[in-house]
Amino acid sequence: MARAVAQAIESGGHLVVEAGTGVGKTFAYLVPILLSGRRALLSTATQALQDQLFARDVRAVVQALNLPVRVALLKGRGSYLCLHRLERSLTGAPSRGLRDPAVSAGLLQVTHWARTTRTGDLAELAGLDERSPLRPLISSTRDNCLGAACPRHGECHVNQARREALAADWVVVNHHLFFADQLVRESGVAALLPSAEVVVFDEAHQLNDIGIGFLGQQLSSGALRELARDVATQGGQWARGMRPWNHLALALEQASRALATVPRPPGQRSRWSEATPERLDAARWQMATRELERALTGVQEALRATAQASADMERLDARAQVLMETWRGLVAPEGGESGGVRWVEWSPAGHGWRLLRSPADSSALFRTLLAPGAERPRSWVFSSATLGQDEALSWFTRGLGLDAVPSLRTLQVPSPFDHANQSALHVPDTLPDPADEAHTPALAEAVARWASRLGGRTLVLTTTLRAADRFASHLMSLVGDGRCGPLQVLAQGRGSRRALLERFREGGSPCVLVASSSFWEGVDLPGDTLQLLVIDKLPFPPPDDPLMEARSRQLEARGLNAFNDGFLPEAAMALKQGAGRLIRSETDRGVLVIGDRRLLSRSYGVRLLSALPPMRRLLDEAEMTGMLDALAATRLSTTANRPT
Ligand code: SF4
Repeated sequence: MARAVAQAIESGGHLVVEAGTGVGKTFAYLVPILLSGRRALLSTATQALQDQLFARDVRAVVQALNLPVRVALLKGRGSYLCLHRLERSLTGAPSRGLRDPAVSAGLLQVTHWARTTRTGDLAELAGLDERSPLRPLISSTRDNCLGAACPRHGECHVNQARREALAADWVVVNHHLFFADQLVRESGVAALLPSAEVVVFDEAHQLNDIGIGFLGQQLSSGALRELARDVATQGGQWARGMRPWNHLALALEQASRALATVPRPPGQRSRWSEATPERLDAARWQMATRELERALTGVQEALRATAQASADMERLDARAQVLMETWRGLVAPEGGESGGVRWVEWSPAGHGWRLLRSPADSSALFRTLLAPGAERPRSWVFSSATLGQDEALSWFTRGLGLDAVPSLRTLQVPSPFDHANQSALHVPDTLPDPADEAHTPALAEAVARWASRLGGRTLVLTTTLRAADRFASHLMSLVGDGRCGPLQVLAQGRGSRRALLERFREGGSPCVLVASSSFWEGVDLPGDTLQLLVIDKLPFPPPDDPLMEARSRQLEARGLNAFNDGFLPEAAMALKQGAGRLIRSETDRGVLVIGDRRLLSRSYGVRLLSALPPMRRLLDEAEMTGMLDALAATRLSTTANRPT
């Protein structure tokens, strides 16, 4: 991989490389870039990974090779302390949030930290959650930053981070920031791109989905709720008595809530191709959208008339205008040449909603970025453990439109782990069909049996949150009835992701963690923490997923088959990603169970199985039991021999 990256850099070519777990892919791209002496933009999927890349991997490589390189970390503005907003939160009229004693205590802690921090990076504040109500009070958005008019402009952490990034040889960013900046050119990444000679996307398998979120339009109930909150507080502060601010804010909040109560069938998404989203009550939907438009217009007109009152009101007005434009763009009929797709999404609890319109993939953006004849030759490297099944890594390259790029090379580097000896696969053929109601209870009973035997160390991955909840409830009732050994059942949605993983890692009592979506990747539980991984059913995208529908239409227009070239590769990649949670180091041992007998009975099963590492097969319950006992025995003897 390192050699291929070096060649791409030398020739100004582009590389897509799938590197299995344990390859050391980060070092394999960092070393050749460092040796080349080129300027680089390094992007990874999340802020946590960004911190890790910057503070651990880059530092290790730079120290080991002892070559001089200036490296900067650049995040979105919301990740930095805004000195102006902190000051205002401390001195301004107490809003509802500020009356909360926990928020006041948090503000005090931030004030102490603000005196000593050099970067203002909020990640330095241990325990400050992404969703903490403190965050909006101490960080800025594009809409509320005062820019050059700010009294703290000279010492601003956001500006400082951008200046450092411009002066650096390497800049570490994240995909969200990269995409956001291609559109609004606000955070400084777009300014960095022209001088970058190498651009690396780590965890590249997430690019398509993250990109779609930025290329389309979306409006959420959360954004309207925040607008309503700011209308009430800032209107009352800067333009008191000029408009009925509390009334306007309440009307907007109520109209937003009413949209969430429109009767709909179960499910989290509804395609919105006609005037009313599919399977929704048309009369109620029309009434709710009319109310929402009226409330938003009321807020917009009031802000327009009072924008002169202060810089903050001017920004609030601009924000309301943008939301109004987005709303109008979203309610305009679907269609046009973009071939985009429109849908409504509800939060799992059903109280929040998002309206979205997006292209089927991110290919338009990448085609432009990689188009020959860009200002200066630049190499693009895309890397991940999951990019495709074929040599051309079609699942990934097609989604980003890279299959049409002439100077693109693809490479697959297999995992160096000895999967055949380290792991085994069991596909029970006695379970009911996954569509059958009896499937979850039957699999839960089997998991209770296996996990009791193994002493916990079991992760169950389901395809939906609802399924995770159902599965966990069945498991808990089995434990409650004493029908299996003592097990602690942890379930997604009943605790934060971090807290659940910490409790699972502690491993005090035998533990089963049942989770969905976000646990299919980025979960790293090496050693004997996790030894049994259960996937409840094959992770096919839902047949009525609006994006998959749009992609299927695109595939068919190219003469390809929607199932074979769309749904099947999606399932294969998700399966590979989920299965990758089991073996994380060369000493790990474990069993993967896929509770879906379609793997054995359907013709596509062979293709899905080939996405998995070459594991030994456990054909029946006796072999499964034998393997679990062997794992438990090895663990006990290792623990006994461990020096105290
Ligand atoms: S310039 Fe913007 S981000 Fe910086 S301190 Fe002022 S308001 Fe905050």
